[in-house]
Amino acid sequence: MSASDCIFCRIVAGTSDCLEIYQDEATLSFMDINPANDGHCLVIPKEHFENVFDMPPSDFGAVASTAAKVARAVNEVLRPGGINLTQANGKAAGQSVLHVHVHVLPRRARDNLLMNWSRDSGGGRRFDRDRIAEIAERLRSRLRG
Ligand code: AMP
Ligand code: ZN
Repeated sequence: MSASDCIFCRIVAGTSDCLEIYQDEATLSFMDINPANDGHCLVIPKEHFENVFDMPPSDFGAVASTAAKVARAVNEVLRPGGINLTQANGKAAGQSVLHVHVHVLPRRARDNLLMNWSRDSGGGRRFDRDRIAEIAERLRSRLRG
């Protein structure tokens, strides 16, 4: 797959839009376009790897480190009941975008979210760009501090 075929590579290249909340040399974090819960965001390596099997383990270490940092900010800003860090490899595991990413997924008691939640919001029910952008700004300021 070339970078232009991969939506997350296009986001890294700046040719596709995202609500970025953090980046460092090797990783980028931005809001999920179709959040399963408020504050749902993603952490990716800037380099394209389809899955964790294709990736040097130490490169995944950089992604894990950013995911921990972002999760801490999400926890402090939104105070959810808990947070799942989840990462899918292969379609059977629920992977729909073939560029390694960790979901930082805030949880609330009895939110009835299954781990293989629907990636299709069913007509955009959950998608509210203003709300996502407002949360992104709060997370950005926490991650700057
Ligand atoms: P997965 O199904 O585990 O591969 O997760 C892919 C995630 O990427 C889903 O939660 C999608 O909502 C999210 N996603 C897909 N395209 C974009 C995009 N352009 N910007 C932000 N998130 C996206
Ligand atoms: Zn890619």
